[in-house]
Amino acid sequence: MSAIPQNTMAPVDLTTVGPGNGHPVVQPPVLGGSDYTDYYLLNDLLDDEQKALRRKVRDFMDQEVTPIINPYWERAEFPHELVPKLAQLGISGLQIKGYGCPGFSNVTAGVVILELARGDLSISTFTGVHAALAMMSIALLGSDEQRARFLPPMARLEKIGAFGLTEPAHGTDAVKLETTARKDGDAYVLNGHKRWIGNATFADYVIIWARGEDGHVGGYVVEKGTPGFEAEVITGKTALRCVQNAQISLTDVRVPAENRLADVHTFRDTEKVLLASRFCVAWEAIGAAIAGYETALAYAKQRKQFGIPLAAFQLIQYRLSRMLADITDMLCMQYRLSQLMDEGKFSMPRVALAKMHYTERARAILADARDMLGGNGIILDYHVARHLCDIEAIDTYEGTDTVQALIVGRDITGYSAFVPPTPGAGR
Ligand SMILES: Cc1cc2nc3c(=O)[nH]c(=O)nc-3n(C[C@H](O)[C@H](O)[C@H](O)COP(=O)(O)OP(=O)(O)OC[C@H]3O[C@@H](n4cnc5c(N)ncnc54)[C@H](O)[C@@H]3O)c2cc1C
Repeated sequence: MSAIPQNTMAPVDLTTVGPGNGHPVVQPPVLGGSDYTDYYLLNDLLDDEQKALRRKVRDFMDQEVTPIINPYWERAEFPHELVPKLAQLGISGLQIKGYGCPGFSNVTAGVVILELARGDLSISTFTGVHAALAMMSIALLGSDEQRARFLPPMARLEKIGAFGLTEPAHGTDAVKLETTARKDGDAYVLNGHKRWIGNATFADYVIIWARGEDGHVGGYVVEKGTPGFEAEVITGKTALRCVQNAQISLTDVRVPAENRLADVHTFRDTEKVLLASRFCVAWEAIGAAIAGYETALAYAKQRKQFGIPLAAFQLIQYRLSRMLADITDMLCMQYRLSQLMDEGKFSMPRVALAKMHYTERARAILADARDMLGGNGIILDYHVARHLCDIEAIDTYEGTDTVQALIVGRDITGYSAFVPPTPGAGR
C-alpha cells in the first residue's frame, strides 16, 4: 500500500499547462494523500474510534491549516483564527484524564500529533507546548484543586498555556537554572529571565520553573497580567516562524502561594513532564518526515524531465524507497514505544532514543524531498520548504540530538558523559 497523491483540497490531477513554454508544470500544493503512508498497515492496529479521530485531524489540517498557513509563516505571526477550530477537535489535554481532557492512550495521542505535524509543525508545536508541557505539568504535578482550577478552561482552549524552563544561560543544563522564588507572606516572588518560551507572549498561564530558598526547583503558574512579567517575542527565526517564542523578564513577580505546583519537590519532578512531552515530539518528527516523503512522491509522479515523470527514474525510486523504509522503521518503533508507555514501561532513555533517531531521519528526508522538488523545493507554496526549516527547531527543543545520545549512552554504558572532567583534574 502506498500513499496515493490525492489532495483533498485540490483537483486530483495537479499537472496543468502552466507558464512553462507550453510544457506541463506541477501546480502547488502537492502535499497529498487521501490514504496514509503506512506500508506495514499499522493503521489496522487502531480501532474505529482512533481511525475516525485520525481522519478528523488530517482533514482539519488539509482543509483549514494548509491553505492559510504559509502567509502566517512568512509574516512570523501566530494564526489565532485557528484556535477555536482546534478547540472543536477536542484534542487539547491529549493523554490527561478528567477535567474535560480527552484521556487518550499514548498511541491515540501519538497519531493525533503525527497528523498535526504532517500538516504543520508550528501548529503541532503550539499544541505540544500548551497540552504536553503546560497542561501536563499541572496534571502530573498539581494538586486536585489546581487541576480543577486550571485544566478545564485549558482543555477548551479558552486559556492558553506556556512552559518556562530554559534560560538565556541555561538550555541543555536547565538543571542549573537561576530564576529565583522567594516566599513572602502568602505569595512567592519570582526574579530572573527565561528564553525561547513558546506561546508566552499571549499565554494565560505560564509555568515558570524557579529555584526556591531551599535550593530546589519549583513550578509556579504565572497568570496573564501579573505585574513584573514581560514577554518579548524573539524575532528573526528561520524555523517555526508562526510559534511566538519569547524572552521573558521576571521582576518581583508575585505569584499567589496556591499557584505553586503542589507536587514539585526537585528538578527530577520537572523531568516527568519532559519525558511525556519528548515522547510527543518524537511523533512530531515522524509526521514531518511523512510530509516530506508524500510531497516528494506526489511531485515525482507529476513532474516530467526528459519527457518522462521523475518517478520513473531509478535514482528517484531509490531515494523514495529509502524514505519509506525510514518512515516505516520509525512508525514500527514508535507504535511499540507507545505500547510500552501505555503499560508503564517507559524510561527517559527509551524516549530519548526515539527522539534522537526520528529527528535525524526527518531532517534527512526533508532535505532530500526539497532537493527532489528542484527549485520549487524552496518555495513555500509547495510546503516542503516550511517543514524543512521547521524541523531544525524540533531537532533542538526538548533536547538536541547530542543530548538524547548522551542520555542513551549513559544508560547503555553506565558512564555519564554530560560533564567532562575539568582540565587538569586527577593529575
Ligand atoms: C523554537 C524553539 C522553541 C522552544 N520552546 C521552548 C519552550 O517552550 N520552553 C522552554 O523552556 N524551552 C524552549 N526551548 C528551548 C530548548 O529546549 C533549548 O533550546 C534546548 O534545550 C537547547 O538549549 P540551548 O539552545 O541553550 O543550546 P545549548 O544547551 O547551549 O547547546 C548548544 C550545543 O551544545 C551541545 N551540548 C550541550 N551540552 C552538551 C554536552 N554535555 N555534551 C555535548 N554537547 C553538548 C548541544 O547539543 C548543542 O548542539 C525552545 C527552543 C527552540 C529553538
